Amino acid sequence: MGKRKSRAKPPPKKRMDKLDTVFSCPFCSHGTSVECRIDMKNLIGEASCRICQESFSTTITALTEPIDIYSEWIDECERVNNLEDEEGSHTDSEVLPP
Ligand SMILES: [Zn+2]
Repeated sequence: MGKRKSRAKPPPKKRMDKLDTVFSCPFCSHGTSVECRIDMKNLIGEASCRICQESFSTTITALTEPIDIYSEWIDECERVNNLEDEEGSHTDSEVLPP
Protein backbone atom coordinates (compact mmCIF):
# COMPACT_ATOMS: atom_id res chain seq x y z
CA MET A 1 0.00 0.00 0.00
CA GLY A 2 1.49 3.22 -1.04
CA LYS A 3 1.44 5.99 1.37
CA ARG A 4 -1.23 8.39 0.46
CA LYS A 5 -0.03 11.75 -0.36
CA SER A 6 -1.10 13.80 2.53
CA ARG A 7 -3.27 16.51 1.32
CA ALA A 8 -3.08 19.95 2.54
CA LYS A 9 -5.97 20.97 4.67
CA PRO A 10 -8.73 22.29 2.50
CA PRO A 11 -8.93 26.01 2.78
CA PRO A 12 -11.56 27.16 5.22
CA LYS A 13 -14.64 28.73 3.85
CA LYS A 14 -13.90 32.16 2.71
CA ARG A 15 -14.19 34.48 5.60
CA MET A 16 -14.22 38.18 5.66
CA ASP A 17 -10.61 39.07 6.18
CA LYS A 18 -11.47 42.32 7.74
CA LEU A 19 -13.25 42.52 11.02
CA ASP A 20 -16.10 44.88 11.05
CA THR A 21 -14.88 48.21 12.19
CA VAL A 22 -17.65 50.31 10.78
CA PHE A 23 -20.99 50.56 12.50
CA SER A 24 -24.17 52.53 12.45
CA CYS A 25 -24.38 55.60 14.58
CA PRO A 26 -26.74 55.63 17.56
CA PHE A 27 -27.10 59.39 17.27
CA CYS A 28 -27.62 60.19 13.63
CA SER A 29 -28.56 56.63 12.59
CA HIS A 30 -26.24 56.77 9.64
CA GLY A 31 -25.50 53.19 8.66
CA THR A 32 -21.76 53.19 8.24
CA SER A 33 -20.52 56.34 9.85
CA VAL A 34 -19.01 55.05 13.07
CA GLU A 35 -15.45 53.90 12.94
CA CYS A 36 -13.62 52.23 15.78
CA ARG A 37 -10.00 52.72 16.49
CA ILE A 38 -7.92 50.69 18.84
CA ASP A 39 -4.91 52.17 20.53
CA MET A 40 -3.00 49.20 21.84
CA LYS A 41 -0.23 51.37 23.22
CA ASN A 42 -2.48 53.22 25.60
CA LEU A 43 -5.19 50.58 25.73
CA ILE A 44 -7.83 53.00 24.60
CA GLY A 45 -10.60 52.19 22.25
CA GLU A 46 -12.37 54.92 20.43
CA ALA A 47 -15.49 54.99 18.35
CA SER A 48 -16.50 58.09 16.51
CA CYS A 49 -19.05 59.12 13.98
CA ARG A 50 -17.77 60.99 10.99
CA ILE A 51 -21.19 62.43 10.28
CA CYS A 52 -22.30 63.93 13.58
CA GLN A 53 -18.90 63.88 15.32
CA GLU A 54 -20.19 62.00 18.33
CA SER A 55 -17.48 59.95 19.90
CA PHE A 56 -16.87 57.53 22.69
CA SER A 57 -13.72 56.17 24.22
CA THR A 58 -13.14 53.44 26.70
CA THR A 59 -10.33 51.44 28.16
CA ILE A 60 -9.67 48.17 26.40
CA THR A 61 -7.67 45.01 26.76
CA ALA A 62 -5.59 43.16 24.23
CA LEU A 63 -8.66 41.10 23.41
CA THR A 64 -10.99 43.97 22.75
CA GLU A 65 -12.39 44.14 19.26
CA PRO A 66 -14.01 47.07 17.54
CA ILE A 67 -17.44 45.57 18.03
CA ASP A 68 -16.82 45.54 21.78
CA ILE A 69 -16.11 49.23 21.82
CA TYR A 70 -19.17 49.89 19.75
CA SER A 71 -21.44 47.82 21.94
CA GLU A 72 -20.10 49.55 25.02
CA TRP A 73 -21.01 52.80 23.39
CA ILE A 74 -24.51 51.56 22.71
CA ASP A 75 -24.82 50.41 26.31
CA GLU A 76 -23.69 53.80 27.45
CA CYS A 77 -26.26 55.50 25.24
CA GLU A 78 -29.01 53.30 26.60
CA ARG A 79 -27.97 54.04 30.15
CA VAL A 80 -28.13 57.74 29.46
CA ASN A 81 -31.51 57.35 27.80
CA ASN A 82 -32.85 55.45 30.78
CA LEU A 83 -31.62 58.10 33.15
CA GLU A 84 -33.41 60.72 31.15
CA ASP A 85 -36.58 58.66 31.20
CA GLU A 86 -36.42 58.37 34.95
CA GLU A 87 -35.95 62.07 35.36
CA GLY A 88 -39.03 62.61 33.24
CA SER A 89 -41.21 60.74 35.68
CA HIS A 90 -39.80 62.21 38.80
CA THR A 91 -41.50 61.26 42.03
CA ASP A 92 -40.64 61.84 45.66
CA SER A 93 -41.08 58.25 46.69
CA GLU A 94 -39.54 55.35 44.91
CA VAL A 95 -42.10 53.56 42.85
CA LEU A 96 -41.16 50.18 41.52
CA PRO A 97 -42.77 49.05 38.31
CA PRO A 98 -45.19 46.17 38.74
ZN1 LIG B 1 -23.60 60.06 13.96
